[in-house]
Amino acid sequence: MTENEGKNKQKGSKQKKFKLYKPRKKKSVEEDAAIQYLQAQYDKIVPDEIKTFKDLPLSQKTLKGLKENNYITPTEIQKQAIGYALQGKDILGAAKTGSGKTLAFLIPILENLFCKKWTRLDGVGALVISPTRELAYQIYETLRKVGYLHDFSVGLIIGGQNLKFERKRMDQMNILICTPGRLLQHMDENPLFDCNHLQILVLDEADRCLDMGFAATMNAIIENLPPERQTLLFSATQTKSVKDLARLSLSFPTYVAPHEQAETVTPESLQQSYIVCEIDEKLGILWSFIKNHLKQKVLVFMATCKQVKYTYDLFCKLRPGVSLLALYGTLHQEKREKIYNEFCRKSNVVLFATDLASRGLDFPRVNWVIQMDCPEDVETYIHRAGRTARGVFGKGEGLLMLLPNEEKFVEDLKNRKIPINKISVDPSKVVAPQRKIEALLSDNTELKQTAQRAFVNYLKSVFLMKNKEIFNVQLLDTDAYARSLGLIVPPRIRFMHKYQKNNVAIKQPENDEGDKVVEKLKAKANDDEGSDQSASSDESEEEEVIPEPKKKAERTKAEIPKFDFHNNDDSDEDDFLQVKNANIDIETDPVEEEPSKTKKKSKPLTKAAVAKKILKKKIKVNTTVKFTDDGEAIQDEKRDLKSELAKQLNDENIGGIDIEKAKELLQEEDKFDKIRFREKVKAKHKEEKRKLKNKKKEEMGEKDDFGSQSESDGPDLSWLPDPDKVYGKKEDDNDDGSNSGGDKDSFRSNDEEGSQDESDDEQIYHRPAKRKLVESKGIPQESVAPRKVKKIQDISSSLSVQEAEALAMRLLQKK
Ligand code: ADP
Ligand code: MG
Repeated sequence: MTENEGKNKQKGSKQKKFKLYKPRKKKSVEEDAAIQYLQAQYDKIVPDEIKTFKDLPLSQKTLKGLKENNYITPTEIQKQAIGYALQGKDILGAAKTGSGKTLAFLIPILENLFCKKWTRLDGVGALVISPTRELAYQIYETLRKVGYLHDFSVGLIIGGQNLKFERKRMDQMNILICTPGRLLQHMDENPLFDCNHLQILVLDEADRCLDMGFAATMNAIIENLPPERQTLLFSATQTKSVKDLARLSLSFPTYVAPHEQAETVTPESLQQSYIVCEIDEKLGILWSFIKNHLKQKVLVFMATCKQVKYTYDLFCKLRPGVSLLALYGTLHQEKREKIYNEFCRKSNVVLFATDLASRGLDFPRVNWVIQMDCPEDVETYIHRAGRTARGVFGKGEGLLMLLPNEEKFVEDLKNRKIPINKISVDPSKVVAPQRKIEALLSDNTELKQTAQRAFVNYLKSVFLMKNKEIFNVQLLDTDAYARSLGLIVPPRIRFMHKYQKNNVAIKQPENDEGDKVVEKLKAKANDDEGSDQSASSDESEEEEVIPEPKKKAERTKAEIPKFDFHNNDDSDEDDFLQVKNANIDIETDPVEEEPSKTKKKSKPLTKAAVAKKILKKKIKVNTTVKFTDDGEAIQDEKRDLKSELAKQLNDENIGGIDIEKAKELLQEEDKFDKIRFREKVKAKHKEEKRKLKNKKKEEMGEKDDFGSQSESDGPDLSWLPDPDKVYGKKEDDNDDGSNSGGDKDSFRSNDEEGSQDESDDEQIYHRPAKRKLVESKGIPQESVAPRKVKKIQDISSSLSVQEAEALAMRLLQKK
């Protein structure tokens, strides 16, 4: 007994009320013993001897979870993979679609963490990565059902969900089911996210997770994971690429492929056939097929989102008599979930989908999988077709529509052990509602635009296909295809015209970058993540499957195809285009039907472009005539330019618009302008000073006048005694007359101010103006010059009695 256990025992005996304590301890001991027993059995597992799940050394909780969900007998992949996984080996699991790979990795996860007595406090113990949100959701649901008796917390981490909600709970999660983009987002941004104790990593649809579409994201994720972990990879089309395995630090994984020796790579209960038809017959055949299979569950794959959207919108309006659904990446997450659940639930229903739905999704009881457009490769075909005939007793049929030039694809299928038979369509049973479609489109501009987009995007998807032996856009009868969609006037396919003009042969890009582009396209063809960007608006987006686009400058000419796409620019952009947008400059503008409209909506001209045009035509526009200060017209402004650069440019006679040169020139000229301006200001000041001096002189004269004026208008003071005689001559007094006294004061003050203030000119200038104003208002000068009066009073008060009497007498005589 350890120290801790002793303490616990003491506590337990004191507090008998805690009834739960004792059983818990007992349980813990029992659990330890059970774990030890189970672990001891791991090396004894013989896959061929396993009949039921009970034959595997699994915990009671897992066994009960399996049983309650009717999982009694393990499938082949489960029998073989679970044993190795329990032993802690890395696994490369390959098994047919619908063969039960999900449980083959979920059971080992539960057991691994159970044996390690993983608790909420231990953090993330297992990580399952899925390429699409729907698949992640499906895995999450299966885990919840099977592992409900375990105490682990499970988190579904996918884009389009509430990021804040996920963020807060990240540190409490033990098992995470996620899509790559969102997982990386948490790794980068969420401080609560910690996967340092990760025990087991699973990649479902591993080849897809590891392909070019997810390369950058996956590499970043793997970098963040502890190298000491168990790794399980599962797919129906497993990667054996040494490169891929090295990325995951898998040097010697156990390869588990129970169906490797099987006659077919697709489920035996899947009946596969193909038809060859013309491009304009496809829609009619599909319509007729649906009308003839109203009581069935049908899944229709198309190449692009826009085709899915158009076919869905159109068929809804045509009312075939069965429920219709559409699932594609650019839909909002909530809608995606709703549609996914609805298609799972319903039995008579048609789902139009992109390759978003091609991987891993386990829709129950799908009767038919129709591949309306040729898949880009055999792997895509296998996954699409594998949405039917799933599980132990599942049955289903697949129909592939091929254009005559695509029939070569069948060889590839057969070479990969895919049994597929050619069938023909009874023309009498094909009823294309052509007239109705045209009428609908003429009435509904929105639908017409959707049709136009579907048309253009399909052509683009064909153009971008890697396998040029099978996909040749030039062989397509585009006019007939447009008509079949209800478009009387085929939309312009600018990228094709430009391409043809440039006479660039359509061929598979030979350089590495070309391969990457096609790989990225593959990523998009599967439609899952990149499209999520527009689907979820509130958060920074998860499924950015595209590696960072190279900067324009970084791209070599060879990497840039010599064509551009003129695609619609609406928000739910087609996946293919998003991929290409990330790598190539694709001009996007609305799909146009009439050529005239194209011109109207052409690229807006920049000011520089307009100016250049005008220069070329030698048109003189908006010429301005400038004048000097003296009113003389400046004939050639350039003649006034003083800088060396201006002379140089003039000599060289450089024409055109060189913004940089013009800027340099202006800066040079600016220096000369500043000097000129300073000189002008100086001259102005000089002139003002000169004027002011003259004014002062005049003012002095005016003051004399003032005296004379007062003489004429006011009382004559000439009779007053000479102050020099009265007070005696002051030594410092240069000015004469009593008037000067007041003025003298004012000037002195002005001089003082002037000594402090540089703008003395102005001060000196204003004061006389004030006086003038007073005069102009007709106010007697005496009233504004009280000091004068005061001086007189002062004089009289200082006189002797005799002098005062004499003064009074004189005054009286005068009167
Ligand atoms: P895969 O991933 O190989 O395509 P899934 O794991 O999605 O296949 O399983 C396909 C279907 O088979 C599912 O509906 C699943 O419930 C069912 N299934 C899986 N294992 C068993 C089993 N042992 N017994 C019965 N049904 C099973
Ligand atoms: Mg699967």
